[in-house]
Amino acid sequence: MNSVAVIGAGTMGNGIAHVFAQKGYNVSLIDVSQPALDKALATIAKNLDRQVIKGLMDEAAKESALQNITTFTEMSEGVKGAEIVIEAATENVDLKMKIFKSLDEVTGDDVILATNTSSISITQIAAQTSKPGNVIGMHFMNPVPVMKLVEVIRGYATSDEVTAKVMDMSKNLGKVPTEVNDYPGFVANRILMPMINEAIITLHEGVAGVAEIDTVMKLGMAHPMGPLQLADFIGLDVCLSIMNVLHDGFGNGKYAPCPLLVNMVMAGKLGRKSGEGFYSWSHGTKELIVADNFR
Ligand code: NAD
Repeated sequence: MNSVAVIGAGTMGNGIAHVFAQKGYNVSLIDVSQPALDKALATIAKNLDRQVIKGLMDEAAKESALQNITTFTEMSEGVKGAEIVIEAATENVDLKMKIFKSLDEVTGDDVILATNTSSISITQIAAQTSKPGNVIGMHFMNPVPVMKLVEVIRGYATSDEVTAKVMDMSKNLGKVPTEVNDYPGFVANRILMPMINEAIITLHEGVAGVAEIDTVMKLGMAHPMGPLQLADFIGLDVCLSIMNVLHDGFGNGKYAPCPLLVNMVMAGKLGRKSGEGFYSWSHGTKELIVADNFR
């Protein structure tokens, strides 16, 4: 395979386009928003520059990677000739259903249809198409050029052949693909999100403060960052929506989102992207917030 179309040019889409382009694939990067496409190309160029500065690639390889990317605002144009389409649009069930219905109409029977969703059922997405055997989850981690894991999620109908092709392709990208089945949260978020939620419950119950909880998990468990800082990076709205998927999907109270998480999202405290979550990010670095704020 050497042609890939990536739908959605946001945080994940630009990273996915970056790694494929760097490996010599022809990449069509598709977004409904032209400013998002412009921003994605600028981000990819900046991230490639960083790799040049670190001596990981030379200037010629950077230029050729950039030339491998073409942008489109029209999905039906962008997917022409692609052997695999990877959808990385906004995490919204209705939107993804609509995109896969349209993809089914504009792609041939041998095109692999992958989604980078963090939490939406691959089986449900596949059911929007006439070829559910071709639909698979390819869950890249953020930042894509740096993180090695690709969680490869088999939907109920995903074929062995499609799974094998996606596993091979991920290895060719220099990633470590790991095959899992399609149940709420897959593996990554089924384990990560309850840990983050439990850290928020621990804060909410006054067992310890933000800095203390993060320090225990960083120094005690050798995690690169504490769970509350990680929640700020991921986005508290994203954490809440994944907890809701786990709660609804398993019908088990152990996945109930912490009321403090719900309140913070309602108050617009979404973490780094909104300037404040468990820490204040308004000056570009993480700063502690007075403990009284977390009621
Ligand atoms: P984002 O908000 O940064 O980007 C989404 C992009 O999709 C936007 O540029 C938007 O304009 C575009 N878009 C919306 N509707 C579209 C359409 N119909 N056609 C084409 N483009 C469209 O989102 P993100 O953080 O990059 O997340 C994308 C996907 O990746 C989501 O499914 C998310 O769950 C998943 N994911 C995110 C992370 C993360 O850390 N951000 C990690 C793993 C997986």
